[in-house]
Amino acid sequence: MRRRLLLLLLAAACAASCARTTATTPPGTEAAPRLTATQEAQIGALADRDLRRDARLPEGGALEREAQQVGARLSDVFGAHAPTWRFAVLDFGAPNAFALPGGYVYLTRGLFPYLSSRDDLAAVLAHEMAHVALGDAVADYLAGSEPLPSDLGVFRPVARLFGGRLSPAVAPALFASHDAERERAANALAARALVAAGFDPAAINAVLDTLDRLDLDTDEVGVPTWGMTHNRGTRLDLSALVPTLTAVSPAKSPPGGDDFLDHLRGLLFGDDPRMGLVRVNEFLMPSLRIALTIPDEWDVSSDRTRMIAASPDQDAFIVLQWVPQSRFRPAPNTATALAMRAGFKQATGETMTVNGLAATAVTTTGTVEGLGEVRARVACVQAPLGPFVVAGVASTAKYAEFQSQFGAAIKSVRVMTTAEAAGILPERIEIETAEPGDTWDRVARRHGGLVMGNLLAILNRGAADLAVPEGRRLKVVVAGEK
Ligand SMILES: [Zn+2]
Repeated sequence: MRRRLLLLLLAAACAASCARTTATTPPGTEAAPRLTATQEAQIGALADRDLRRDARLPEGGALEREAQQVGARLSDVFGAHAPTWRFAVLDFGAPNAFALPGGYVYLTRGLFPYLSSRDDLAAVLAHEMAHVALGDAVADYLAGSEPLPSDLGVFRPVARLFGGRLSPAVAPALFASHDAERERAANALAARALVAAGFDPAAINAVLDTLDRLDLDTDEVGVPTWGMTHNRGTRLDLSALVPTLTAVSPAKSPPGGDDFLDHLRGLLFGDDPRMGLVRVNEFLMPSLRIALTIPDEWDVSSDRTRMIAASPDQDAFIVLQWVPQSRFRPAPNTATALAMRAGFKQATGETMTVNGLAATAVTTTGTVEGLGEVRARVACVQAPLGPFVVAGVASTAKYAEFQSQFGAAIKSVRVMTTAEAAGILPERIEIETAEPGDTWDRVARRHGGLVMGNLLAILNRGAADLAVPEGRRLKVVVAGEK
């Protein structure tokens, strides 16, 4: 496992939660080309437990219920292709969907703003259920021991660092990219299932067209977007499918009326800045009221309790990690204790003050697979909301090159005031009615220009250069608390 020491550093820092990061490969799956239904169910259940623990959507009740209701209708059609079908919405900002062996289907929170109806939701669920039915979900899992595709660039090592969050059982499915043939096969099967369950199969193409227009990078956790894991241009030729579709007898009772847009009101749009954002060269974590300066051009990823910044050449890392107070008793030699628990050699720590905060720091050495012999500067800073570990890690050969940057990052740690933290507001979806003479740019300006008119056009499936039809219900992006 590459950079195991870094993972261990994180593990030591967040004790209990990360102590469960060991790979959970069920017995017998290592060399098996096929899995038994029991094994599939085990894999899905273990991964599902991790995902629910780490990416549970705090405010997703209505969306998840909607997904479960639509999924239940489709489950009747897909039936025995999985032991039990389960549907969940995960708190990732990147728009995407994926499935795990055993019938576990996930949609990200970030996907919902790009859906416009219950038929759209059904189309995405049916697409993922088709991957399970066609054996693609198992194939992805079994291929998970292969290296991740290198063309995914910067998020790759970060994804590995975040292995504690996205467990080895989950990451392959998240990062799997299917070839166009498998995508088309999934879409064709999904179309038949949609008809049988009483949904509109044309929604598949509507959703694909919308997501194909997006050109987004990974979200702040490193989760890829739909466009990064799905081949473009796999839309269905529905007219060619008509003979097969008409042979499917549709569900007796059609699904109820569509109030889908109303479910989107107040939904977080994209990453939640309260969990972490970069402003100029400072990384801010308003929810934990902490901030630190990161070197120019470094890539930052974060989740609710930690940040990892990687140097442009991926040869040095700065980690910020919150230590829940219930899990760690501060001591005079906290930094040394944490470093040793992470597998670094014993070294003498020193006490210091960082912007008025009591801190301890230690410089130590260890071995990291992939980086080799490393040197690390590890500090533990006592902030009002608990201790934070700040660590700079580089190979021994490169350490001198980064030493001053590590020191500067540690010295830059500061507490955000309550007012400063409260002033950072998330972006949310609101629903409004188009006014006479509206263009996408005008609608964007009306809400402070948080997103470009072009993105509003994609969200609402309009042509970017055409007027917005008066009276049309629109998804817009606004700033504010729910
Ligand atoms: Zn797919």
